[in-house]
Amino acid sequence: MRTVVIAFFVLVLTACGEQAPQPTDEATGQQARVVVYTSRQPYLIEPLFERYTAATGVQVDFTSDNEASLIERLAAEGRRTSADVFMTVDAGNLWQATERGLLAEIESPSLEQAIPAALRDDQGRWFGLSLRARVIVYHPDRVEVDELSTYEALAEEQWAGRLCLRTSRKVYNQSLVAMMIEHHGAERTAEIVSGWVDNLATNPYSSDTQTIEAIAAGQCDVGIVNSYYLGRLIAEDPDYPVRLFWANQDTTGVHVNISGAGVTRHAPRPNQARALIEWLASDQAQAEFAERNLEFPANPAVPAKGLVVDWGEFKADETPLTVAGQRQAEAVRLMDRVRYR
Ligand code: FE
Repeated sequence: MRTVVIAFFVLVLTACGEQAPQPTDEATGQQARVVVYTSRQPYLIEPLFERYTAATGVQVDFTSDNEASLIERLAAEGRRTSADVFMTVDAGNLWQATERGLLAEIESPSLEQAIPAALRDDQGRWFGLSLRARVIVYHPDRVEVDELSTYEALAEEQWAGRLCLRTSRKVYNQSLVAMMIEHHGAERTAEIVSGWVDNLATNPYSSDTQTIEAIAAGQCDVGIVNSYYLGRLIAEDPDYPVRLFWANQDTTGVHVNISGAGVTRHAPRPNQARALIEWLASDQAQAEFAERNLEFPANPAVPAKGLVVDWGEFKADETPLTVAGQRQAEAVRLMDRVRYR
């Protein structure tokens, strides 16, 4: 009976022309599919998943939630999970998932070739798919660009009462500080972060967008944010009065992080999971994947697209992003100690 149904489907599809082949799931005999748990906003990924289905015939079903809930859900579901792929932002979050034993080690020559070693787990449990930069932003009426240099220099006295930051609760700042501990050691990093706290114009904000808006509104002159948040504001208003500065170009390079994905430990369809991640890392998908969120391709063979090109080339910190996870707890304690809220 099942064969008849499939044969009928094939007939219908052949009659429709253009459609991709319809691979079937070995276990169910139905259309092949892959299930993704993701903390990414649906509008950023859904069009890519649709393209994947059009190209391969494999249906992508996804569940969106925040990363903490998805990690708990994967842990609670264990072997019964329907999730094949876990996709989120920040190496700190992906590292947490590996610490909980939720991601499988996979071998993929194509992923190892496409994604630089610093942007993936050395055991193949997660792979960066887009690159985001945490940059200095400033108001050009109140800051001369040659006053700017490094994240570290924002701790100096000249910035007293002029700095805005997002809360230390956000993983983005935890990863930045983790990398600073790697570069400077804990003692020097504590001095720097304490200097930031002394220079704050206001209490830390709950989002990068609020931080940028505070600079635009004149509450402060400089801040540290992920570049795509500024990109969104510039996309709406090309004359938006806040500029980007590539931090640490003469020293460690600008702090970069990733959005990325891994195959879940108990994936019911591990081969489909790997194939989807490989496709997202490929030339065909990388430019669009990055551009949708105004990020940069993780695959260095693929040029960036869209308004981010106006910001020019930059030197990125090439420290392996696993460090952001390994030093996360230390970074949280350090920020707490110097009263960065
Ligand atoms: Fe973000």
